[in-house]
Amino acid sequence: MEARNKPNVLNMLTNRNTVGGELADIFEANGVDNYEEALGVSDLRSKEKLSKKVIAKANELLGGRNGLSQYLIDFQNKYLEDKPHFIESYKNAKRSFTILKKALPMLKGEFNEGYDVLDDILDFFDADNENEIIHNSIDEAALFRKQNGVEPDHIHLSAWLRRGEIEFNRIILPDYDEAALKNWIDSKEWLTKITDPAYFKSLPDLFRTFGVGLVYVPFLPKTVYGAVRWYGNKPLVEISDREKDLATCWYTLFHELGHVILHKNTNIFEGETFDPKRRGSNMERQANAFASRYLFNGDSLRIAIFDRMRKNVFMTANNLSEEFGVNTIFTSYWLRKAQYNPTMQRHISIDFLDGY
Ligand SMILES: [Zn+2]
Repeated sequence: MEARNKPNVLNMLTNRNTVGGELADIFEANGVDNYEEALGVSDLRSKEKLSKKVIAKANELLGGRNGLSQYLIDFQNKYLEDKPHFIESYKNAKRSFTILKKALPMLKGEFNEGYDVLDDILDFFDADNENEIIHNSIDEAALFRKQNGVEPDHIHLSAWLRRGEIEFNRIILPDYDEAALKNWIDSKEWLTKITDPAYFKSLPDLFRTFGVGLVYVPFLPKTVYGAVRWYGNKPLVEISDREKDLATCWYTLFHELGHVILHKNTNIFEGETFDPKRRGSNMERQANAFASRYLFNGDSLRIAIFDRMRKNVFMTANNLSEEFGVNTIFTSYWLRKAQYNPTMQRHISIDFLDGY
């Protein structure tokens, strides 16, 4: 069904013929006109119930057929028996839609074969029913909560993860080549293009050659900076444009690459990557250290900034950049995190909204 005019939730009852509609069809198929007049019933098609008298009259008009009266009575009973179930499931479907409509931005208009928008959402999730989606999303939220200590929006999270999975499945990936990935990281060729959002956006094509599925998906509220999942020994690294900031995207990417290299076959949902105080787990410390080593020349820049803040020492992104040998987008990044003249800091915008 076309997206235009498609109802969010189709009331299946409106697709069911009423007994009046069924009878009108029979009259018309038999070339009987003026049947409403003859029966003394107006708007026959809208009638869910016909009296015995009307049914008998109809049978007479049709020349008295064996079984016709019983057929109409059975038809009517079945409709009336089903009606409350249809109403109930329509109500449930509408309730589900109000929950699941949050996933709609992630459909990208690609799923539109369903009979209603809710059905499109089911297609997107490749689910048989709404409960399956909701239960899965609660499981994913539990993993997120365990790793991050905060409550995500579970439908947003599920939809965001599902979009990553869909993109991943479209990539034809060779086997994961850890050596090639490490080689690229250590070559530091990326460092010469660190301020170029177009370069960052081109990385998925490069990573494909390493057997790494790198997927960029726009951020949805109360979800993640990124996630790592493994499918058949191949990593899917999914990154969001949370903060719409290139430095943040680099940090997320290198943090996730730290997980890929150091924590093979572990699934990670990244909520608050950037709070070194709160993050307790070993894996998170290791991934942060990995990213810091490559992007910030270690952790001393961050420590110095927070320390000098407390001591009221004047700082600029340029001075820190010279002192620590770190690009100004990253000295600015930490100055912003420290709330040190945040509006004065260098910021390069990036987003992943192409096609959404
Ligand atoms: Zn992490």
